[in-house]
Amino acid sequence: MMSSVVEDSDQNNIMMCCAACGTAEADDIKLMRCTACKSVRYCSVKCQKEHRRQHKKECKKRAAELHDEILFKQPDSTHLGDCPICFIPLSLDLDKSIMMSCCSKVICKGCQYANNLRIEDERIQHSCPFCRKPTVEIDEECDKLNMKRIEVNDPAAMSQKGSEQFKKGDHQSAFQYFTKASGLGDVEAHFKLSYLYSKGHGVEKDKGKYLHHMEQAAIGGHPFARFSLACSEGGNGRHDRGVKHLTIAANLGHDKSLDSLKKLFSNGLLSKEDFAAALRGHQAAIDAMKSPQRKAAEIAGLELTSTDEGFDKQFYKQRMNRLLANDPVAMCQEGSEQYKKGDHQSALEYFTKAAELGEMEAHCKLAGMYYVGQGVEKDRGKQLHHWEEAAIGGHPKARYFLGCDEEESGNIERAVKHWIIAAAQGSDDSIQLLLEKFRSGFVSKEDLAAALRAHQAALLLLVSNFLLSLTLTD
Ligand SMILES: [Zn+2]
Ligand SMILES: [Zn+2]
Ligand SMILES: [Zn+2]
Ligand SMILES: [Zn+2]
Repeated sequence: MMSSVVEDSDQNNIMMCCAACGTAEADDIKLMRCTACKSVRYCSVKCQKEHRRQHKKECKKRAAELHDEILFKQPDSTHLGDCPICFIPLSLDLDKSIMMSCCSKVICKGCQYANNLRIEDERIQHSCPFCRKPTVEIDEECDKLNMKRIEVNDPAAMSQKGSEQFKKGDHQSAFQYFTKASGLGDVEAHFKLSYLYSKGHGVEKDKGKYLHHMEQAAIGGHPFARFSLACSEGGNGRHDRGVKHLTIAANLGHDKSLDSLKKLFSNGLLSKEDFAAALRGHQAAIDAMKSPQRKAAEIAGLELTSTDEGFDKQFYKQRMNRLLANDPVAMCQEGSEQYKKGDHQSALEYFTKAAELGEMEAHCKLAGMYYVGQGVEKDRGKQLHHWEEAAIGGHPKARYFLGCDEEESGNIERAVKHWIIAAAQGSDDSIQLLLEKFRSGFVSKEDLAAALRAHQAALLLLVSNFLLSLTLTD
């Protein structure tokens, strides 16, 4: 069906006659294409108007086919693209990359980690691993840099500013930034704009524009946009279109879309072949995002340095009050804040206090510090101790790391035990490794099936959170 559109328009290319009066194109007669269906030509606006009634139905049908041809084309990569330093595709997990305010480039944490090691080795000034400008730590400085990027029409910087304005509650301004950024081709801005149109934030509600921008985001490789389109198609009862969207998103490495396909398959709504193809496509995309450097960064707990840009003074004050009230979560956050500023000693103190008060995240971060030897001597014993404390307290990531550590020491059985527990707590990484170990015969089919079921159940609990994360207020 799809190819017929192309063939027909080719035929029209050959004929080159006005569809209304039959006049052929000549030196002094230029024909214009119908902009909607691109498959017929006219010698004049008058001819086009006359032909409209006759052409309307066919035009609509072809325009829809043309639209679907573009909409359902598999994008080469996600909207995030590759890390500009290592050229490996960026992970869909936004915690695994960072946007530099100097050049608006999104860098993978593997490259950031390598850069930090080099800086520490050579005892030089902190600088951006991409553009080499000295890094700024103060929020106002970051803001200034971002405004400079906006002045030179950088769509990524505009899009980020839009998100910040939204968080501050200025929806009108957010709308303007997203509109500009999307006009300059920023895919994320299309996605967020569609959200504003759907909720009527900063602009009148508009279903048509919501859909338009959601589709533009999907075409640009945005897997969440694809997933959203799939959900609405499913809601409209158009399952075949829903499956197409989910398959494209799964091929881009989107976990939730693959999960949905899995459900459709087990309910008999998707063929085994189609599911297997999606599974392979998804795995290939995930594999392409891996690198030893990224793994090292993850194990070193580089999430310690993740910046919450856009965090404002109000929030800071609240946190200070919570700190004074000995709130372990606030203490752990303050530790991360201190770490970010390079004060490892102070970070260690906050994490230690928070961990003593039972904050599992703090245990996990402490383990990271003992692993890297920052603010404290490297200490493998303490590193393991804190991972274990966190794991016992129900921290899936610490559990996952413990498994990786056991695997590295050759204790596959213990590694598998950890990953099974972590999988039941929703750890996707653990499921991936269990699948790997199943293929190499270290995990039985029954154990894998049980782990998958438990993982699925944990994910269902997370679904409501996921839906919330689709909004801007994350
Ligand atoms: Zn004509
Ligand atoms: Zn037409
Ligand atoms: Zn990289
Ligand atoms: Zn830079």
